[in-house]
Amino acid sequence: MFVIGCHLSSSKGYLNMGQEALSIGGNSFQFFTRNPRGGAAKPVDEDDVRAYNAFAAENGMGPIIAHAPYTMNPCAATESLREFSLDTMRDDLARLSMIPGSLYNFHPGSHVGQGIDTGIELIADTVVRLLDSDNPTQILLETMAGKGSEVGSRFEEIRRIIDLSGGDSRLGVTLDTCHVYDAGYNIVGNLDGVLEEFDNVIGLHRLKAIHLNDSKNPFCSHKDRHEKIGQGSIGIDAFKRIINHKALRDLPFLLETPQDELSGWGGEIALLKSLREN
Ligand code: FE
Ligand code: FE
Ligand code: ZN
Repeated sequence: MFVIGCHLSSSKGYLNMGQEALSIGGNSFQFFTRNPRGGAAKPVDEDDVRAYNAFAAENGMGPIIAHAPYTMNPCAATESLREFSLDTMRDDLARLSMIPGSLYNFHPGSHVGQGIDTGIELIADTVVRLLDSDNPTQILLETMAGKGSEVGSRFEEIRRIIDLSGGDSRLGVTLDTCHVYDAGYNIVGNLDGVLEEFDNVIGLHRLKAIHLNDSKNPFCSHKDRHEKIGQGSIGIDAFKRIINHKALRDLPFLLETPQDELSGWGGEIALLKSLREN
């Protein structure tokens, strides 16, 4: 099954997001668990969750992705900020346990001058404490562009976080096409080589989702500015190879492209479906 969707606003609840995804030809979606600027999440609406689960079963929805607020930093320099990240993530996971098959994606963090090694250790420390429950939800580390002091722009960094976290099977990775291309992994000229490197360093069994974004900036720019599919430096031919690659084609693909209207993502989903090979 081709699982594809885009990032939606969660303000009207799960059922509304499911209906929006379906209305643009999608069968998955991503959403922020709360206002990215932080703050409390709304209480869980159990009727909405029940309604969504029934809707998802009826319409054959694929797994959905909850994205942690990108402002939290699991390797912040002050303990109170790290604790805030951990509390936020624990609360998010407790809510997600009500949605079967959902995935929880987060940015590893920024070491803010403490150095990459300290950053990795602090992130692993957060992850270990996050995993200290029987919550079955998959937790995904997102590959980053390497902007500022971001951790996770090299596959080796992700691998070290996973290892230091004990290699728990609930830990996985989201590959963001804009981020890895900006980070210097040539998915345009050598997709097979990049995936081989991913397999050697992290292991393809950890790869659980793809963020599909073109990039406004050239290869290895370490910028992280998303572009519409086919209108950036990655280009449509590379996306055709990505969505059809045997190592990737069964993963959920989520668009995080800059569109103002739902119909914009609808157009991208239709385009990608037309490029999908059986
Ligand atoms: Fe992200
Ligand atoms: Fe992303
Ligand atoms: Zn990004």
